[in-house]
Amino acid sequence: TRTPLMAGNWKMNLDWKQGLSLVEDLGDALKGLDTSAVEAVVLPPFVDLRTVQTAVDAGKLPIGYGSQDISAHESGAYTGEVSASMLSALGASYATVGHSERREYHGETEQVTNAKVKAALDGGLTPILCVGEPLEERKAGKQVEYTLAQLEGGLEGLSAEQVGSLVVAYEPVWAIGTGEVATPDDAQEVCGAIRDWVRTAHGEAAADAVRVLYGGSVKSSNVAELMTKPDVDGALVGGASLKADEFAKIVRYLE
Ligand code: 13P
Repeated sequence: TRTPLMAGNWKMNLDWKQGLSLVEDLGDALKGLDTSAVEAVVLPPFVDLRTVQTAVDAGKLPIGYGSQDISAHESGAYTGEVSASMLSALGASYATVGHSERREYHGETEQVTNAKVKAALDGGLTPILCVGEPLEERKAGKQVEYTLAQLEGGLEGLSAEQVGSLVVAYEPVWAIGTGEVATPDDAQEVCGAIRDWVRTAHGEAAADAVRVLYGGSVKSSNVAELMTKPDVDGALVGGASLKADEFAKIVRYLE
């Protein structure tokens, strides 16, 4: 059985002091959390990660953390980049790969995304591979086809065991930051298709193990309904992860 995962993508918000206060408040709000029932993760800007590590360690907070992006390379002359091993050394568990904002504003291709997924795995991090269609594709009814093509490209050359170990986030671009959440049925359609693709390509064990998140305008008021869907294993949350009480409510969607 898959442990639900609620991941907060802070995007380019919160300096290290603001990040520290959010993580401390979140720690308070998540006191006593049953981490075998749900996993809470934050994805802060790189410059906040060292502070988050210190706060999580010092307070023994039930919060995991990871990055919003990662270098495709191991080390060396790649100015401005941060490697998987650097993140692992900070105690990070996750690396977001292929977020639609990286694809759109930084020209990240399928090949780059695939290389980053591999770099994350090689460096001991769990990739959160983001996929999802823009509005035109949804209007044309091509959301499944489009999203599965991204998935296939991002997972090229991976073993069944590797695919089973990772997290895929279905984030329809039209739902990101718009307040327009996908309906639970829309989320299920594509999340289910993602798991079916994994089953066909990598077998039952990988399909059972891979966690598929939904992302796009998730809030405490809509998360529980999304989570009733069989192939939605959690949420990737942007705006609503910037307030401790709101994100804690999302994490505690079962209570
Ligand atoms: P919002 O929750 O702000 O719509 O952002 C979703 C997202 O892009 C998370 O990665």
